[in-house]
Amino acid sequence: MAQLSDDCFAFGGPMMSVDEAVGLITTRVNAIVDLEAVALVDADGRVLARDVAAPLPLPPFTNSAVDGYALRNADLPESAARAFPLDGRIQAGGVAQAPIRPGHTARIFTGAPMPPDADTVFMQEDVRIDESGRIVLPPGLKRGANVRPAGEDIPQGHVALRAGQRLRPQHVALAAAFGLTGLEVVRRIRVAVFSTGDELASPGEPRSASQLFDSNRFMLMAMLRRLGCDVSDLGILRDERTSLANGLKQVAGHHDLILTTGGVSTGEEDHVKAAVESIGSLVLWRMAIKPGRPVAMGIIGGTPLIGLPGNPVASFVTFVHVVRPTVLALAGGLPEPLTPIPLRAAFTYRKKAGRREYVRASLRRAQDGALEAIKFPREGAGLLSSLVETDGLVELGEDITNVEPGQDVGFLSYAGLL
Ligand code: AMP
Ligand code: MG
Repeated sequence: MAQLSDDCFAFGGPMMSVDEAVGLITTRVNAIVDLEAVALVDADGRVLARDVAAPLPLPPFTNSAVDGYALRNADLPESAARAFPLDGRIQAGGVAQAPIRPGHTARIFTGAPMPPDADTVFMQEDVRIDESGRIVLPPGLKRGANVRPAGEDIPQGHVALRAGQRLRPQHVALAAAFGLTGLEVVRRIRVAVFSTGDELASPGEPRSASQLFDSNRFMLMAMLRRLGCDVSDLGILRDERTSLANGLKQVAGHHDLILTTGGVSTGEEDHVKAAVESIGSLVLWRMAIKPGRPVAMGIIGGTPLIGLPGNPVASFVTFVHVVRPTVLALAGGLPEPLTPIPLRAAFTYRKKAGRREYVRASLRRAQDGALEAIKFPREGAGLLSSLVETDGLVELGEDITNVEPGQDVGFLSYAGLL
């Protein structure tokens, strides 16, 4: 399990910027070191545990990039077209029986190995076949044209996949191209998730008139699974210090991270803070971010705890900036900074300097073809519809105080966050 020191999340200032939060997590959270082997088909989304050097060059042999005609470039005429007699035929998966005779050309297909001595391929679209079946080749094709040399993609021995890489389908494809059947990855990060609040009922259970169904827990569990975590669903804990403390103590030893939602403001009915303090250490990170509320960062017996705010949108946004880097750091993953894509704002907005704000927005193609961000019309941090009906978040940096229609802003697509 993760073992972090009690002062792991200590922080001096009154307010913390998003960058400070991510920096602190990245430098102070130690990676777990347990590895496991997985078959390629199960490798997507996992964090690679060791560098992978290419055991063979890619492509493994020099081959034709097109369907066409192979020849020695030196045989090509300098100015006029010339007819070449055919000598040989090589299909993908086949081999040339002999070198091409001087002044001849061989029929070749995409992916077929180049015959010895041949160094150039004409695309079949660029040639003509004369009455006697000879191939008429125009002048001027460069040596090496339409040929894929062995190792042009990746030379043998090159470190092609780095430890810490979160594997995506293209990384799995590369491992398969090397002939590997599996990869060594970091074991899944185990996360215990629970909600707090007497006003919450679990879907499937009776709901009293003053209760709402717990939605955050399902959102957070889904987000964690997208990050490759093994999730334990611990349900809803009541707003009561002793039962919270007991619940937390029980799970701490068996998980790498505890994630809670709700109950971390400073109100007298917010008991998570007091419960964690009674069995471990806790600091409140007041982040200069909107939507957002203080995020509780605790350690219980070496296990980190993150307490997210209860409002669904605040919970979503703080997950992205605090939980996501923590999970990556625990898994020893390379940092994956979020990169907002510039596009055009189609809204007006005012904000305070010194705070980063995220505006829920949908994308629209404007009349001139440019991509525009349309702000969701309402702002409440409790509006789940604002997450459901938009495509992502416009990120307005600390320096910005004012957005006018037509201005360039940075956009983070939901698809790129997890
Ligand atoms: P809290 O952070 O506990 O003060 O909660 C802030 C708001 O978020 C309150 O209106 C809560 O009812 C709501 N809330 C808290 N937890 C959840 C949850 N798990 N699902 C949906 N809403 C929640
Ligand atoms: Mg509450």
